[in-house]
Amino acid sequence: MADFDAVVIGSGLGGLTTAALLVKQGLKVCLLEKNNRLGGYAVNYTARGHRFDVATQALGGCGEGGIVSALLRDLGLYNKLTFLPCEPARIYHFPDSPAPFIQHGFLKEQRNLLCSLYPDQRLAIETCFEVFTTLFAELQDIAVADTSPLFGFSKKYPALARYGRLTVKEFFDSLHLPEKLQIRIGARSGYCMLPLSDLSLVAFACTEMSYGGGAWMVRGGVGQLVTVLGDYLREDRVEIYRKSRVERLLFAGDKVVGVETRQGKKITGKAVVMAVDGSGILAQSEEPCAPLLAKYKKMACTGSYLVSYYQVPLDCVENMQANIEVRLPRQIIAETTKIDVYYLLIPSLVDKDSAPEGKHSFCVSVPLRAGVMPDHHERLAIRMRLEQLVVELYPRLAGKLSFLFTLGPDHFKSMTGNSNGAAYGFSQTVSQSGIYRLGNNPRIAGLYLAGHWTMPGGGIAGVMTSGKLCARAVINDVCHLEKLTSKSMPS
Ligand SMILES: Cc1cc2nc3c(=O)[nH]c(=O)nc-3n(C[C@H](O)[C@H](O)[C@H](O)COP(=O)(O)OP(=O)(O)OC[C@H]3O[C@@H](n4cnc5c(N)ncnc54)[C@H](O)[C@@H]3O)c2cc1C
Repeated sequence: MADFDAVVIGSGLGGLTTAALLVKQGLKVCLLEKNNRLGGYAVNYTARGHRFDVATQALGGCGEGGIVSALLRDLGLYNKLTFLPCEPARIYHFPDSPAPFIQHGFLKEQRNLLCSLYPDQRLAIETCFEVFTTLFAELQDIAVADTSPLFGFSKKYPALARYGRLTVKEFFDSLHLPEKLQIRIGARSGYCMLPLSDLSLVAFACTEMSYGGGAWMVRGGVGQLVTVLGDYLREDRVEIYRKSRVERLLFAGDKVVGVETRQGKKITGKAVVMAVDGSGILAQSEEPCAPLLAKYKKMACTGSYLVSYYQVPLDCVENMQANIEVRLPRQIIAETTKIDVYYLLIPSLVDKDSAPEGKHSFCVSVPLRAGVMPDHHERLAIRMRLEQLVVELYPRLAGKLSFLFTLGPDHFKSMTGNSNGAAYGFSQTVSQSGIYRLGNNPRIAGLYLAGHWTMPGGGIAGVMTSGKLCARAVINDVCHLEKLTSKSMPS
């Protein structure tokens, strides 16, 4: 007899969503988290009265009909949270134009804006958005298909068959889109941390569609989402073990039957869900894990970020927007790091309660390539260089940036166990995206995967979707599909 129906490893939003959906179906669930605090990257830090979402700039899927809102409604939790819209979603300073480019939160407005800026390209722009919509719909369908999706694939999933192996750049080139327009339609590629020439079209389509119903922040911080899901689990008497790092999986023959923690505690379950970077656990586990571990080792991770947090006086951010991306005309070298893009975030413009009276909160972040781990000295040099760049662009901020703290890849790694502090799991290249991404059911009996290393990929909306897909796979196996009505499955 197993102790639990399902043992979930990791309390990021992928693990929390999986656990909540399993518990909703009446499964006996246990959640193991290595930290004292739940949430993984989805936590808030507070400094001098400022509250920062340390690893979330904006969430997709929180509007009407969005993935996050639908999941929360399904769990009866939607009304416990308030989502605040970031409109415009982001403004961009591109080197090819002095005027900032505004990205609307909503796809329809965005498409209309692009058509008005490039009227002779209307048809191509509309084709792009149609393809994004169809790819997203097909991928959602394939993810929950009960039969092997490979049978009759090109008939059932014509867009995936046609575009599934293209980069965004290849797709845009096939439509003969001018370079300037490619940059604008592909503006959100920054969220995937890859240039258009390396980024999978399918992954970009998912990002575009998940933000297509607006970009959002959670009132009170993204940690509220974690609190609400955590309370839901506790109300259903889910056993939550904090400070419990899982070291390895336990096997009976070829089947995973439980986990062992660093403290030597063994917990058994009919299903074990890894909602973490599984490379460490797989390396400590037995032979049946070897093919999956080999897969992990072959795949490339996304990079991480160096983020500096500040407070600024109210008046010096007047006329600025909450979410800004600045692409530089050339790479600027700050010690070991090349900087060609950076981000500014003023979260208190969206949620004014996140800053103390008379102040705004301000973040400057820069993406770092996978494996780049600047030490204290290099971090300082990068921060200084970024402050110079920010002040060159917004002179009103000169002398006004009052530094609070910095987080880098090493912090993100120790927070979550993600290799090199990877921000979004495996990189969204063509061979690691869409149907080529690690699935939620990795063909080791008893083992399931969720979180940003798996399908469909990183970001809050992505990992909550992975939780839904993973819960579905577990319920399928553990409860035997035939006994459940389709109504009672996570829809
Ligand atoms: C700087 C930064 C900015 C970002 N900005 C955005 C954004 O604007 N919008 C957006 O949607 N997304 C953003 N992301 C990405 C997003 O935060 C992540 O994709 C998502 O939160 C990952 O969730 P997850 O469930 O996969 O796991 P994680 O958040 O990585 O959580 C994993 C959990 O598992 C625990 N764990 C790990 N190993 C073990 C073990 N062996 N035993 C027990 N527990 C273990 C960890 O402690 C952690 O709590 C950003 C990320 C970063 C770093």
